[in-house]
Amino acid sequence: MLKVENLTKSYSSGGRSLTVLESVSFELHAGDTFSIVGPSGSGKTTLLGLCAGLDRAASGSVWLNGIQLDNLNEDQRAAVRNEHVGFIFQNFQLLPTLTALENVLVPLELRGVKGGAQTAQALLERVGLGGRGHHYPTQLSGGEQQRVSLARAFANRPKILFADEPTGNLDADTSATVVDLLFGLNREAGTTLILVTHDLELAAKTQRVVRIKGGSVVSDSLTQRTTASTPAQ
Ligand code: ATP
Repeated sequence: MLKVENLTKSYSSGGRSLTVLESVSFELHAGDTFSIVGPSGSGKTTLLGLCAGLDRAASGSVWLNGIQLDNLNEDQRAAVRNEHVGFIFQNFQLLPTLTALENVLVPLELRGVKGGAQTAQALLERVGLGGRGHHYPTQLSGGEQQRVSLARAFANRPKILFADEPTGNLDADTSATVVDLLFGLNREAGTTLILVTHDLELAAKTQRVVRIKGGSVVSDSLTQRTTASTPAQ
């Protein structure tokens, strides 16, 4: 489902190069739930973006559902993302000029799905925002925007869902709703779930936790949620 091999990534700014990931490797199987934890600045968001094909590594390889992403151009990676991936961004990244309903419609229209508006409305209802489809992101609270971003990520019926701090800025109730929705998708549709989180209680709900520090994997452990059918490394 997802295989990451010797991934290395540097950013350059002000004429300097900063290596943020070094030789990261792991493999996930369909239906796994997985967390990436670690201190702020350790490279978690960068790793998530590389796995989802949002960005390209300096060296190393990523296979997503059997497709090697490394040699694809941006358009080809976008096509793979539309087909296979849902992504929940730390800062939601809703399009500000579109309503909640239109934001959820975007991935459906990109895939040429007919009757998308009905599907988008059903998804908004699923996240408890059925009556807010005509509202723009600025007219929604942070937790509501997060739930719209969840509905948008679910729209493609992704085989793999990446969520960057999905409960980061939410109150306890909204956070519990979001967690239920994420794990519900995993249980009901077998969607592989990869979370980046600072919340160790949330991480413990997944089957496996990788901790990174300074861009390298420092531990990779199975949690008590692991079932007998989950392949261990
Ligand atoms: P946090 O928990 O605070 O969200 P993180 O572990 O997700 O942090 P990243 O966002 O992956 O960390 O960033 C890793 C390092 O890369 C940080 O030092 C960050 O400043 C740097 N970085 C991230 N994006 C860029 C960029 N576009 N250009 C230059 N440096 C960047």
